[in-house]
Amino acid sequence: MKNLEIKDLSSWPIDVSTRPLVIAGPCSAETEEQVMEAARGVKAAGIQIFRAGIWKPRTRPNSFEGIGAKGLIWLQKVKEEFGLITATEVANARHVELALGAGVDILWIGARTTVNPFAVQEIADALRGHDIPVLVKNPINPDLELWMGAIERLHAVGLTRLAAIHRGFSTYQKLKYRNDPQWQIPIELKRRMPQLPIFCDPSHITGDRDLLDEVAQKSMDLNYEGLIIESHCKPEEAWSDAKQQLTPIALKELLANLVLRDPEA
Ligand code: PEP
Ligand code: MN
Repeated sequence: MKNLEIKDLSSWPIDVSTRPLVIAGPCSAETEEQVMEAARGVKAAGIQIFRAGIWKPRTRPNSFEGIGAKGLIWLQKVKEEFGLITATEVANARHVELALGAGVDILWIGARTTVNPFAVQEIADALRGHDIPVLVKNPINPDLELWMGAIERLHAVGLTRLAAIHRGFSTYQKLKYRNDPQWQIPIELKRRMPQLPIFCDPSHITGDRDLLDEVAQKSMDLNYEGLIIESHCKPEEAWSDAKQQLTPIALKELLANLVLRDPEA
């Protein structure tokens, strides 16, 4: 399936005049106070889109699996109080219904869901008739076809505001990063779906806040359109992904230090 009709980011409910487009916020919504504090910081860092996971598919049981639907009310407050665009992860049709009902602006599909064609199809069916922006994370395994297949399933129900998120691939090898970036895979995705915007997720690639800048820079050098980065006001106390989150102030500095080449040059 070639040349999917995918609209560019200017069709999203955001200002796209600055590059990169940044989505930031905590890995997980934990408490109302934590969400509001993070949103205040993200807004102050000049970011337009706030992320927070409320349903968290985790690899092992007995980890924090998300606060659930009550987090949707906190996201509504984030919109009202700070005028931020909100984004959250959906992993099944019920999540889609609840998120759409609560007015979440942007959805993403997580790496553990992209691997499952029936789960993606269920999400796609629940989204039919709603042209909300949806970002599709790469599957946890390095399978470009599976990643493209998920995007095609969403496109087939009429979604045109789609984007990819590169979050790296699971590996059993000891690497400097938590997930192997395998840059050749998103590069090939860009070649095969040139109209699809792509965001880099340095948080889940590196698993380490001290390494975020080099991965974010590399994605800018490859002309990615955006970044999705986890930010928490007290990162070391975070209920999930504590090592990779950074404060909104540190995030602002990271963004200011990115070197952007002119994509046309
Ligand atoms: C997340 O974005 O918090 C998340 C769970 O990511 P991934 O699906 O990339 O592991
Ligand atoms: Mn996370």
